[in-house]
Amino acid sequence: MASALWHGFADMGAVEKNGAFVVSRGEGAYIWDREGTRYLDATAGLWFTNVGHGRTEIADAVAAQLSKIAHFSNFGDFVPETTQVLAERLATIAPVAGSKIFFTSGGSDSVDTAAKLARRYWHEVGQPDKAIIVGRQKAYHGMHVAGTALAGIPVNREGYGELMADAATVGWDDAKSLLELIERVGANKIAAFFAEPIIGAGGVYLPPEGYLAEVRDICREHDILFVVDEVVTGFGRIGGEWFASTRFDLQPDMMTTAKGLTSGYVPMGAVFIAPRVAEPFYAGSWWRHGYTYGGHAGAAAAAMANLDIVERENLLGESKRLEASLHTHLQPLAEHPRVAEVRSGLGAVAAVQLVDPAEALPFVKTLREHGISGRAAGQGAMQISPTFVMTDDQVAEMAAGILAALG
Ligand code: PMP
Repeated sequence: MASALWHGFADMGAVEKNGAFVVSRGEGAYIWDREGTRYLDATAGLWFTNVGHGRTEIADAVAAQLSKIAHFSNFGDFVPETTQVLAERLATIAPVAGSKIFFTSGGSDSVDTAAKLARRYWHEVGQPDKAIIVGRQKAYHGMHVAGTALAGIPVNREGYGELMADAATVGWDDAKSLLELIERVGANKIAAFFAEPIIGAGGVYLPPEGYLAEVRDICREHDILFVVDEVVTGFGRIGGEWFASTRFDLQPDMMTTAKGLTSGYVPMGAVFIAPRVAEPFYAGSWWRHGYTYGGHAGAAAAAMANLDIVERENLLGESKRLEASLHTHLQPLAEHPRVAEVRSGLGAVAAVQLVDPAEALPFVKTLREHGISGRAAGQGAMQISPTFVMTDDQVAEMAAGILAALG
């Protein structure tokens, strides 16, 4: 059926031919399509519905805020009251004490903000030659120009020409390749290194033991800003802690976030900026950067209600429970002949890697016939990133559905 909607990241010819998967409502770890069929949501939407679907408490908080004032501005000295309160609250959980919070409308905005700020910082401190921004193979940093240029998924970069001068890519799992780049081009030319604690959209790959601390130390030693992209991992996805940066003591100079900040109930992102990077901009200079809807008051109200739920229901603990539960229930799938490996054991994320990457898309369609809504990521992996309210029984139900779909 012809439709006016052009979906993101989609083969639209196939969507037109086969029809869209129209989601009508959700509750907890389940969603329902327009025909009323129920599915277990294996991915929390696009990695974001951390507190689960159907939280009227968040809807009520947004409605109350919009009735009071929907939004105004956070340019110059303006700021909506709720936005200011949220920033103070986020500063108390920031991995680096004294961090400043810069609000955006989503993850791609957060990445662009951090990329621009990295360069602008070096300009402010009299080292404008430090311009190269380094990303990693397999990395995903959103779809704005900076994020597309930094990502390590070549097909996403094809056909646009040079998106951003002075972008470089190193291995995703190999700190030596970062060192080699530094030796080749010189630390005096490098502004920042961007890393996701877990490779997310690029296929769900967990960091090798010690890797994150190693790249943190290399950045420190060579005076390169360390930017940790926690759009996926932030606000509890990593298990037990608010951030991977806290769990691994990464002390990021900047940390990009979105998704779990509001559990995706309304769009919002935030960049956490360590005092060192903020300082020049608080001492006479000012930064000509901002988004109309950055710090939107309705989004800030959603974030406050969302964080209340995470705290009240100990969802950081629940995410840690899921770390173990996913590992226990999904690892046996690795025995199946169609499965190459199962990646799990860090946070509420996992991937079932198929032997034949071409089977991933048809496989997630088959999964629906078994009552599971799933998603392909990277080269032939099924992404698993449930809501933190998914019970152990539901994890078992998901594993059984995957096994049945594998045949
Ligand atoms: N960074 C990472 C690590 C992400 O996973 C994503 C989105 N999946 C983004 C940035 C971009 O976020 P958004 O789609 O909200 O712009």
